[in-house]
Amino acid sequence: MGAAYEVIVVGLGAMGSATAYRLARRGQRVLGLEMFQPGHDQGSSHGYHRMIRMSALSDDGYVPLATRAFALWR
Ligand SMILES: Cc1cc2nc3c(=O)[nH]c(=O)nc-3n(C[C@H](O)[C@H](O)[C@H](O)COP(=O)(O)OP(=O)(O)OC[C@H]3O[C@@H](n4cnc5c(N)ncnc54)[C@H](O)[C@@H]3O)c2cc1C
Repeated sequence: MGAAYEVIVVGLGAMGSATAYRLARRGQRVLGLEMFQPGHDQGSSHGYHRMIRMSALSDDGYVPLATRAFALWR
């Protein structure tokens, strides 16, 4: 008998939610575990004063990552 889940994501903030979503879209059997209710305001991803920039001082791959993140966000 196979495992019920191939991936378990602990914590469904922005990063965990995106990870679980993308893996499920790829056909993985994913379980997401969150200690609070969906939409709670206890995590780092919550609030109204976050900023995302499309520039960086160093060429460390941040800009392509941010560009791809914007496309996926839409
Ligand atoms: C005040 C503030 C301002 C910020 N401003 C910016 C900004 O302007 N620009 C920027 O790019 N970044 C900013 N950041 C950082 C950015 O918000 C975080 O890096 C990002 O949101 C982290 O996302 P995350 O999904 O990793 O964490 P979180 O959103 O914190 O998600 C973690 C989740 O895991 C859950 N969890 C934790 N432990 C357990 C457990 N044991 N079992 C089950 N669930 C668990 C939590 O409840 C939560 O839902 C800011 C952060 C803060 C706090």
